[in-house]
Amino acid sequence: MSAFESPHIAAGISNSCGWHQALQTMGETAYRRWRARRQEGHSRHIDFWGTYACRCAAPWFPDVLFRGPVCDRVDPQTGNRTLYLTVDDGPTETGTPRLLDLFARHSVPATFFLVGQNAKAWPEAVPRMVAAGHAIGNHTYTHRDAWSSLFPAVAQELQQTRTLLEDQSGRPVTAVRPPHGHFTAKLRNWCREQHQQLVLWDLLPADFSPQTSVDQICRFTLRHLRPGSILVLHDNPQTVDRTPAALARLLPHLLEHGWTFKLLPQGTQRREVVK
Ligand SMILES: [Zn+2]
Repeated sequence: MSAFESPHIAAGISNSCGWHQALQTMGETAYRRWRARRQEGHSRHIDFWGTYACRCAAPWFPDVLFRGPVCDRVDPQTGNRTLYLTVDDGPTETGTPRLLDLFARHSVPATFFLVGQNAKAWPEAVPRMVAAGHAIGNHTYTHRDAWSSLFPAVAQELQQTRTLLEDQSGRPVTAVRPPHGHFTAKLRNWCREQHQQLVLWDLLPADFSPQTSVDQICRFTLRHLRPGSILVLHDNPQTVDRTPAALARLLPHLLEHGWTFKLLPQGTQRREVVK
């Protein structure tokens, strides 16, 4: 009797074929998904770091806000799901008015994380945002990256921007978003001491990337949105054509499908004098 005629060996071969086939199918599925994403032109790198990595990292940094509070993700009365819309890098004289008009048209509040030097260059922006019911947060003075700067420089910029924004708005500024989402242990300590909430996000559709189209921003947002998501978009010269156009499509769609927009939880701490 040859090896292939043995029922045990034949069964073994058949099993191994089953496994082989299953692995092949899994591989093909993964490859098809990868191809589809490549064809969409979306950067896998940005997707990974911007959204998936933030979601994985969130439990390790309980002091950092990646997503809205659990109790506020779904309204028990209406079943509406909450979305926190945030806009970084502004204000800009070209982009901000378009965004403000859009938010006013749909009665949607947003939290703007502002770059101090931009706010100083266009001082009417902050009072206009506050008067329209939006919140503002600190995005450093020159968009300084905490990973490539010495901490005293970062802290100085955060303090300078906080002072400026509080003077312009007449309100406490209690939220910090580090540029590029790059935070350090020292930055976390500073936020704790200064009663500032460190805010990141759990949804980044990479609107700042020239490879990302309006379609892709919308598709990525709708695919990855979850109740309590903090969505980050941008208001800078690179996004002025894409982001308002994407929001013009997204806002009515989301409102129609039971999403409610809220401001990030705000503190009320007064500014402390740093000597
Ligand atoms: Zn930024």
